[in-house]
Amino acid sequence: MPDNKTKYVFVTGGVTSSLGKGIISASLAKLLQARGYSVTIQKLDPYINIDPGTLNPYEHGECYVTEDGAETDLDLGHYERYLDRKTSQANNVTTGRIYQHVINKEREGAYLGKTVQVIPHITDEIKRRIRLLGKTGDYDIVITEIGGTVGDIESLPYIEAVRQLKWDPEVDCIVVHLTLVPYLATSGELKTKPTQHSVKQLLESGVQADVLVLRTEHTIPEDVRRKVALFCNISKDAVIESANANTIYEVPVLMQKEKLDQVVLKKLDLPLREEPEIQQWKRFLHRLDNPQNHLKIGLIGKYIELKDSYISINEALIHAGVENDTQVEIDWIHSELLTNENVADKMKDLDGVIVAPGFGERGIEGKIIAVEYARKNNMPFLGICLGMQCAVIEFARNVLGKKGAHTTEINEQAEDPVIFLMEAQKSITEKGGTMRLGAYDCAVQKDSIAFDAYQSELISERHRHRFEFNNKYLKDFEKAGMKASGINPEGGMVEIVENVNHPWFVGVQFHPEYSSTVLNPHPLFVKFIAASLKESLK
Ligand code: GLN
Repeated sequence: MPDNKTKYVFVTGGVTSSLGKGIISASLAKLLQARGYSVTIQKLDPYINIDPGTLNPYEHGECYVTEDGAETDLDLGHYERYLDRKTSQANNVTTGRIYQHVINKEREGAYLGKTVQVIPHITDEIKRRIRLLGKTGDYDIVITEIGGTVGDIESLPYIEAVRQLKWDPEVDCIVVHLTLVPYLATSGELKTKPTQHSVKQLLESGVQADVLVLRTEHTIPEDVRRKVALFCNISKDAVIESANANTIYEVPVLMQKEKLDQVVLKKLDLPLREEPEIQQWKRFLHRLDNPQNHLKIGLIGKYIELKDSYISINEALIHAGVENDTQVEIDWIHSELLTNENVADKMKDLDGVIVAPGFGERGIEGKIIAVEYARKNNMPFLGICLGMQCAVIEFARNVLGKKGAHTTEINEQAEDPVIFLMEAQKSITEKGGTMRLGAYDCAVQKDSIAFDAYQSELISERHRHRFEFNNKYLKDFEKAGMKASGINPEGGMVEIVENVNHPWFVGVQFHPEYSSTVLNPHPLFVKFIAASLKESLK
């Protein structure tokens, strides 16, 4: 008998990467949640980094941060945006973390002289991590997405762990396998052979898929479904089509039409309960498809060649746009290419601007130039983390006349270090997981733009930084019109700045984009879009 009631769904991928396992997992979770099940999603990443915190965004896109301070894969952002439920450290596991744990145990002598091996020690640790979420007792179903593609050398221990769990009488689980069905234009045919091979490859590792999700650019006819079912040992109703969608938010509706949730529940031996009520979700989609207004928002960053580097900002703008019945077009502006000479040309048609988070010197002067343009031209401005720090530097240089103002991240000898290393950071030398991470309280000043947005005097937001506003300068700033409207109650750190001589100018040391969800768009983004709309109509 199962030791607890949690059931597990493993999502694997075959044929190619980038088929959207994260979105399929999140969509399935959404539908199960709508049927009254308590669901969470976990991502297993087969790389050796302990977490993506030290990765350049060009590698895997944005590093997402959970409330409990884990630096994670960006898929966790999708999970939260779809489910409106917080994820945690336990929701993202990497090979690096698994090995680190096993090796530490070996050093402690925990293996009692045994040879430590991939099987059973690494696979046992993988299984333990998978079951951690189930053992909390908080979830009826845990969906575990296995990163990478079946057949990759680095995924093998994960697939082996799944095989063992499928044979474990204490664990109820199924495998959903996602593959690609390519279309050959010359013969006008959808080809199923890559899918057959992929299912076979999984089978060679001892794992039979229970449900197949076929990514396709063309409708899959009945006979093709029947063929796939026959060759892949899968019941026909468990062959699911996943056609291209206009937006990732349409996928739950497509999966509902395909009955993915029903098939999964049937295979898990769970009652269907009520038909999912995703009315609010559908209303969101309807508003997304029928905007009344259009805005162009500039996003100033240095990783814009890979849009995934700013995925949570992108999604938060979509959510806030829908809330304002506005289609938000993002104008991606490379901070490295922005100069005093071309800034007007690049920014004059914008309705608002966001200066993005970031690390290091590259592109920072361009960000400061963008801030100056927004400040002088009354353009609604939202600076996030490094973007807020740039707003502070710009104000110091151009309003307070402190030409040598900078962040000590870039210039340790800055004449006026208006942004400097946090006290708690001074003794830290290791790079991984050592920033100020996760959710912290912030006291919001009543008469402020921030309060207008949050409607609360105490908020909590997620952080990921080492540097902060230097309070030595606060009086000078406030006298000249830049106030600190949000302060950390314990440490006195400035978390929000606002320019009082501007219609809507806000810089935040935290990352509001991480907590915007489809059904709960983030209030700062909502107000930023509202302000941009207002300015655009002037
Ligand atoms: N590099 C800055 C810091 O460490 C900002 C970080 C960020 O934008 N996430 O404080």
